[in-house]
Amino acid sequence: MAMAEPSRTQMTDGLGRRISYLRISVTDRCDLRCRYCMAEKMQFLPKNQVLTLEEIALLADLFVARGINKIRLTGGEPLVRRDIGDLVRRIGRHLGNGLDELTLTTNGTRLINHADMLADAGVRRINVSLDSLDPARFAHITRGGDIQAVFGGLKAAQAAGLAIKINMVALKGVNDGEILPMLRWCDAEGLDLTLIETMPLGETGEDRTDHYLPLSQVADDIRAHYALTPVSDRTGGPARYHSVAGMTARLGLITPLTNNFCADCNRIRMTCEGKIFMCLGHEDHVDFKTALREGGLPAVEPLIDRALRLKPARHDFRIGAGETAPATRRHMSVTGG
Ligand code: SAM
Ligand code: SF4
Repeated sequence: MAMAEPSRTQMTDGLGRRISYLRISVTDRCDLRCRYCMAEKMQFLPKNQVLTLEEIALLADLFVARGINKIRLTGGEPLVRRDIGDLVRRIGRHLGNGLDELTLTTNGTRLINHADMLADAGVRRINVSLDSLDPARFAHITRGGDIQAVFGGLKAAQAAGLAIKINMVALKGVNDGEILPMLRWCDAEGLDLTLIETMPLGETGEDRTDHYLPLSQVADDIRAHYALTPVSDRTGGPARYHSVAGMTARLGLITPLTNNFCADCNRIRMTCEGKIFMCLGHEDHVDFKTALREGGLPAVEPLIDRALRLKPARHDFRIGAGETAPATRRHMSVTGG
């Protein structure tokens, strides 16, 4: 495949926002079926519709040349993709040479086998999703997951020297009683915690309205026990962080419903099919896969500018108040959380 000589201009969208952060969904497949994320009988894409690892790597090269300085690999579950280590190592070669950070979001079930590979490739921080510390509740939320595999993965990641942030989706009537215990556990284990509001993405066979829990309310409940002080440093993602009085764990809040931070959004997302979505909450996208397969990287580069023009001012998520349909038909696992 012909290599392009990409220009090194930075990417700025139509509203003047500098785009520097790319999330790549490396697969739509997963070994869990979290109730808020997927349907129980999820239909996954046929393999030939999914980008090869080489195609993902070529597109990552192009984006780094165009000013992306942070890449997060996600999915689906990125660690179920065969030979994922080849891709991590390949993208990791850009670290210190255009790329400042390579990170990963994982459910942790296969981390035990990959933690050393991630650290060797230059990954320094990972997010691990864990919505409950209770084995039975974890199995319920994930429709059958084994929490011991995640605990084993966390230990392996710590032994490999990776900094870990736990992602916990706050679910009313499911894990709301576990938020304070989770914060205390994270602090004791040397982990940070980010709480996430459930977003209306894709059909799951369940009603999200029932379990939607505004984090403004959760933060007030936490403040009754611990003073929270906003901290200014950002990781480039959508979370806003707080220090917690008496703890070393930091608390992040991702509040797309109660308080969106679209005005300074710096992110774009590439699906495992090579579609570039400029916003998690909109259907507009540009298809890089067809261009790449038909014309190589020179055919793809002009599409970046088309994609930049598509970035909307904000998403428009709503839950409750008569809203029953998801904001997009796409699941988070396709676009990449
Ligand atoms: N499988 C990996 C994992 O679970 O960490 C990576 C992909 S997952 C789609 C990324 C993140 O999105 C996870 O923290 C998950 O909890 C979150 N997520 C998935 N669906 C969501 C939804 N509808 N609303 C809010 N967060 C969601
Ligand atoms: Fe899989 Fe992650 Fe979605 Fe859970 S949240 S079903 S682990 S992709």
